Amino acid sequence: MQPLADPSPEPQPPAFEPPADVAPRGAAADPPGDGDAAAPAPRARRRGGPPSLFGLLPDEFGSLLVEHGHQRYRARQVLDWVYRKRVRDPERMSNVARTLRESLAGLVSLALPEVAEVRASRAQDSAKFVLKLHDGERIESVAMRSRRGVTLCLSSQAGCGMRCAFCATGAMGLRRNLRPDEIVAQVVHMLEATGWEDPGYNLVFMGMGEPLANYAAVVKAIRILNHADGLAVGARRITVSTVGLVPQIRRLSREGMQLGLAISLHATTDEKRRQIVPLNERYGIEDILAAARDYAAKLGRRVTIEYVLLAGENDTHDDANRLAALARSVPCKVNLIPYNPVPRMPWKRPEDAVVQRFADWLAPRSPAVTVRWSQGIDIGAACGQLGSRAPAK
Ligand code: SAH
Repeated sequence: MQPLADPSPEPQPPAFEPPADVAPRGAAADPPGDGDAAAPAPRARRRGGPPSLFGLLPDEFGSLLVEHGHQRYRARQVLDWVYRKRVRDPERMSNVARTLRESLAGLVSLALPEVAEVRASRAQDSAKFVLKLHDGERIESVAMRSRRGVTLCLSSQAGCGMRCAFCATGAMGLRRNLRPDEIVAQVVHMLEATGWEDPGYNLVFMGMGEPLANYAAVVKAIRILNHADGLAVGARRITVSTVGLVPQIRRLSREGMQLGLAISLHATTDEKRRQIVPLNERYGIEDILAAARDYAAKLGRRVTIEYVLLAGENDTHDDANRLAALARSVPCKVNLIPYNPVPRMPWKRPEDAVVQRFADWLAPRSPAVTVRWSQGIDIGAACGQLGSRAPAK
């Protein structure tokens, strides 16, 4: 595939030491969690075929090699080719023993899902990738580049079961959970296809799906991405965005990783929030903010409160005052997201001047306020547009 812009001639292995929040080699695999009855981990095994390498923790891959009579350290050699040098053909892995080169494809699958479509924005600063999974499901991922660096926006589910009233993905319903390898593959594809070199890129789980409703697979994918022998993405550069699944927020705070947490609040009273976020029936604003407070305290880092601005729904002066009060009760930053229109949905984006006025009301009374002027609206890649067929006009 052609790089989108600024192709660098040969991808080089990053010449940086893993930051402190990258899991060191030999780090424990999944620590014993408290069960995940609601969402069983999807198996990384294709029907009949070998498991995907992209769904294995480096230690699991090492054990698999040992089981088949190879030496454990070979795992690091292979992973170095795959994640650093971006080589997936075993024949080209020149320092790997010939016997392993010949048998590797029988032990693990090195295939990535097919890229069904890539749409680059006119400004070439964002691109939407549609991946076609082995069972025909389609998921979308978005790569964005700005002065602040590169951000890759990942999907955690095909569709979503949360049914937020204004969201294109919500309108699809939940098709299925993604497996860890299908999450990791999105990153590998986008790094390769864009050719954008930024050793400090960010990952955000703000694509299709509710990441905390696919908890085990999302956390495993994060451990693979975070591992020094995986893509070595620092945990602080990974943000999980949630509609507010309180038990899973609490569980995430115990995973021992410095992950960013974003809470999709969107309303300042339970009455209003129930109308646009059905899950509010189960977890109300105060429960969610209490979990967010504990998360911030436990990790010693601020959470993000996301607030989609819907014209005439949640953009009044009173809303701004109430939002400021809620925001002051949590160590947080506030991220205002002017609504990105979705075809056939009644919701409207406030005029830019209204967005600015809301931000101006909020700013003096609230912790750090920013406005997310979404990139990629012209390619249907902005927040909440994933899953809609055509870009909104
Ligand atoms: N399920 C996760 C991730 C969703 S996408 C969550 O709810 O947080 C990331 C953000 O985009 C969420 O805050 C979501 O509510 C918001 N969003 C959804 N549809 C949108 C739209 N059409 N315009 C702007 N933001 C939208």
